[in-house]
Amino acid sequence: MSREMCYRCFWPKALCWCPSLQPMATRTRFVFLMHPKEFKQEKANTGRLTHLCLPNSELHMGQSFDGDEAVQALLNDARNFCLLLYPGTEARNLSNGALTPADLGERQLVVLLLDATWSGARKMLKQSPSLQRLPRIMFTPAAPSRYVIKQQPQPGCLSTLEAVHELLTGLEQSGLDHYPQPTQLLGVFQRLQDFQIRCAADPSRPGYRHRPYSAPSERVTASGRSGERRSKYLRQPTNATDSVP
Ligand SMILES: [Zn+2]
Repeated sequence: MSREMCYRCFWPKALCWCPSLQPMATRTRFVFLMHPKEFKQEKANTGRLTHLCLPNSELHMGQSFDGDEAVQALLNDARNFCLLLYPGTEARNLSNGALTPADLGERQLVVLLLDATWSGARKMLKQSPSLQRLPRIMFTPAAPSRYVIKQQPQPGCLSTLEAVHELLTGLEQSGLDHYPQPTQLLGVFQRLQDFQIRCAADPSRPGYRHRPYSAPSERVTASGRSGERRSKYLRQPTNATDSVP
């Protein structure tokens, strides 16, 4: 297979996602803040695939965003109502109706997401006091993660595709947005997993696994690094504190 890359979705050209992704118009602006390590480590690039489905979104890479002009311009624009997707006791829970059109008034809703491992997300916040000061939102997911490949440290950890799906579902329920194609993000997620499972079963591919994946229900809870990855969208590891140092 050719190793040539598509520099839009960052997949090999032979597997490029771009023609199959349909842009979904949203009222909400989504801002993906990607940790540089996430870009290197997460080959599936779910954050970027999500961004490519949402014309009203932007993606910035970095660790500290206090010096990022584009991000600061968004935060300092009084016409915006900026929120950080980050769970915690002080976060408004979208699923409980804790955010309403009246809260927004005439302002544009801007949701910022930290696309990183849990520890990466904590570092990003620590180095970005302007993000720490943002009000936070969270949601209660309708379904546990559909992520069958990566072992999860606890039920309910979500990938970026799933997290934005849950967000849009909650925003629509709250009367804050219209979710035009509620099956697309999960569809991309499903195709991504099918592809990864096929690769793992194909001895001619580099990702071949000599043992097939076990059913998710039979798995032992992972405590390793990969298992830690997505928990920041939902809940925190029990040894982590709520507040940002
Ligand atoms: Zn592409």
